[in-house]
Amino acid sequence: MQTILELLASFWQIWSPNLFLDVGRYVVAAGGLALILKLFWNFGLRRRKIQARWATTADIRREILASLRTGVIFSLNGAAIVYGAIHGVFTIYMDFDKAGIGYLAVSLAGIIVAHDAYFYWTHRLMHQPRLYPYFHRTHHRSVTPTPFAAYAFDIPEAMLMATFTPLWLWFVPMHALGLFLFMAFMIVRNVMGHAGVELMPRSLADSRWFGWINATTHHDLHHATFHHNYGLYFTWWDRMMGTEHPAYREKLRGTPAHDAAGSVVSVARPAAATS
Ligand SMILES: [Zn+2]
Ligand SMILES: [Zn+2]
Repeated sequence: MQTILELLASFWQIWSPNLFLDVGRYVVAAGGLALILKLFWNFGLRRRKIQARWATTADIRREILASLRTGVIFSLNGAAIVYGAIHGVFTIYMDFDKAGIGYLAVSLAGIIVAHDAYFYWTHRLMHQPRLYPYFHRTHHRSVTPTPFAAYAFDIPEAMLMATFTPLWLWFVPMHALGLFLFMAFMIVRNVMGHAGVELMPRSLADSRWFGWINATTHHDLHHATFHHNYGLYFTWWDRMMGTEHPAYREKLRGTPAHDAAGSVVSVARPAAATS
């Protein structure tokens, strides 16, 4: 009995910081962005709303509940990673002198680029009709996403998303700060993609140098139209695979035509998305 209690206590010791970090970063990022949208709504954000439609209170409640469940799943994954690191399966180091700042920067850039690729391809997989009802339906119940939709996943989708980090760590040693910055980058870009308001400069639409960065309109169009824009941080996979929404650039420019496209796309939903 004592042993079981000791095991539970040691599990809680490892799990609780992960629970705090994973649920906490969602609450801070989604709640923080929602607050910013509210505060600056009348200072220019109103004109940058992407869809004519509004999310309902029931939508937001559903997004929050599903996201908190995902936060718990991510924290269990985090505890497994800590156990793995303790037992030498993964290398997560704390000493800056061990590999230098240069390695930290390169491994951080690497994990972001790899995560974007992982997200694109697993996302396309989850859109396969056989997998969609079990993996991805909950996320697409948000036709007009809000920042709270960031983690609104079915349990299998949350597990698939969580798998990326241990998979990466299996091959690549990471500084703890690099991992933390990756987690922070991931949630910030995630809530931005679900803001419902364009937060990026409209000039990204035609930028030769920065057009590879996803604007909010990119992922918003994915929720509105279902069949395009599968990427998370960057546009290159969608461009390479021909899955970028044909109206994306025009809609991001905010030209008058985008309003017409916006109202069309927000209702043009395939049966698979709503069933
Ligand atoms: Zn999707
Ligand atoms: Zn989404």
